[in-house]
Amino acid sequence: MNTVNQDIAEQDDQDRLILDSVDRFLERHVRPVAMQLEHDDIYPQDIVDRMKEMGLFGAVIPAEYGGMGLRAQTYARIIERISTVWMSVAGIINSHLIMATIVAKSGTEAQKRAFLPRFATGELRGGLALTEPDTGTDLQAIRVTARRDGDDYVVNGTKTWISNGIQGGVVALLVKTDVNAQPRHHGMSMLIAEKGPGFRVGRKLEKLGYKGIDSAELVFEDYRVPADRLIGGVEGRGMACAISGLELGRINVAARGVGLAQAALDEAVRYVQQRSTFGKKIHEHQAIALKLGDMATRTQASRLLVDAAAKAYDRGERVDYEAGMAKLFATESALENAIEAMRIHGGYGYSKEFLVERLYRDAPLLVIGEGTNEIQRLLIARRLIERNPI
Ligand SMILES: Cc1cc2nc3c(=O)[nH]c(=O)nc-3n(C[C@H](O)[C@H](O)[C@H](O)COP(=O)(O)OP(=O)(O)OC[C@H]3O[C@@H](n4cnc5c(N)ncnc54)[C@H](O)[C@@H]3O)c2cc1C
Repeated sequence: MNTVNQDIAEQDDQDRLILDSVDRFLERHVRPVAMQLEHDDIYPQDIVDRMKEMGLFGAVIPAEYGGMGLRAQTYARIIERISTVWMSVAGIINSHLIMATIVAKSGTEAQKRAFLPRFATGELRGGLALTEPDTGTDLQAIRVTARRDGDDYVVNGTKTWISNGIQGGVVALLVKTDVNAQPRHHGMSMLIAEKGPGFRVGRKLEKLGYKGIDSAELVFEDYRVPADRLIGGVEGRGMACAISGLELGRINVAARGVGLAQAALDEAVRYVQQRSTFGKKIHEHQAIALKLGDMATRTQASRLLVDAAAKAYDRGERVDYEAGMAKLFATESALENAIEAMRIHGGYGYSKEFLVERLYRDAPLLVIGEGTNEIQRLLIARRLIERNPI
């Protein structure tokens, strides 16, 4: 075996050990409680504590800063597995690791040393604060401002829909440091904003699905952040920071899509062999069999797209094209599989006693978050033209 193959084999062995321990954790500690916690919209503190012990909050944080230093490919497989059992748990890790990735890729050395080891243990858990009440997709239209005052920035404004906003202790906060800059993104920066005076939770947001994880409005009123918390130490790089985190975020959301599509398929495959109508098991009706064929194909195609995007990310390539395709296809597949699983379950699919009801409520978020699927299509098309000039 040559050294490259040996490295790959070792990584595969390491992956297998990690994935096995994730599977055991999910079966013992998540599956038995997920339905109740989800229906009651309760934050899964015990699950979070166990994930801390397993080191999952440091999954992709480099080992030199105390993390596990996993490849995105391995991380995506972990997220897929978690999402087959309860997608909200994957969201708690994702927002946190997007922030950690932004600090790891764009932070100063002092910022990395100060924050990454605390992120890796899960002692400090983070989130990503981009969206505002008046703007989500058009990020350059944000209104939260940060004005330099001596050794601090003074922040004012409101962010909304921030995952981990209540339970987390810190967010990567996208702000305008120059409201008159043209192009607008030259006036945007990102701050490491820890909770403190002037930074409060406005309210918890109630949702269709994706329960358990906290989604919050965050309010900043003359909130002071030391200037050395400006990520990278230079103003005007806020959009670049956000984009660097969102590449991993999109791979994560795509992997969640695979997990959800797989869960819907698994539920359908079980049910069609239990339920009979007109004297035969329902999978023997061709109308149901056709659905199963499409569901299985969509799930596997999604998995392959996610794997390809994660591999390109691990090679250090720019992956908005690959991650965009994976996100688009896998999340649409999740949505389609969820509704097909519900149809296959007939009336039981509409019952809160069956998992497919939750999959149906969780799936729509995936086509909205981390850049809507309309925007993914536009991004893919733009890169397509850039890569194929005539
Ligand atoms: C449960 C949940 C959790 C979230 N977590 C976070 C978080 O942790 N951090 C965070 O910052 N945000 C978070 N969000 C916000 C999410 O990222 C935004 O909702 C999303 O980016 C869309 O923004 P918007 O809601 O303002 O929609 P808008 O930008 O107002 O878009 C409305 C519609 O117009 C379409 N549209 C917009 N512009 C274009 C265009 N140029 N071309 C074609 N179509 C377009 C969109 O695709 C969409 O269909 C979360 C949202 C939810 C629901």
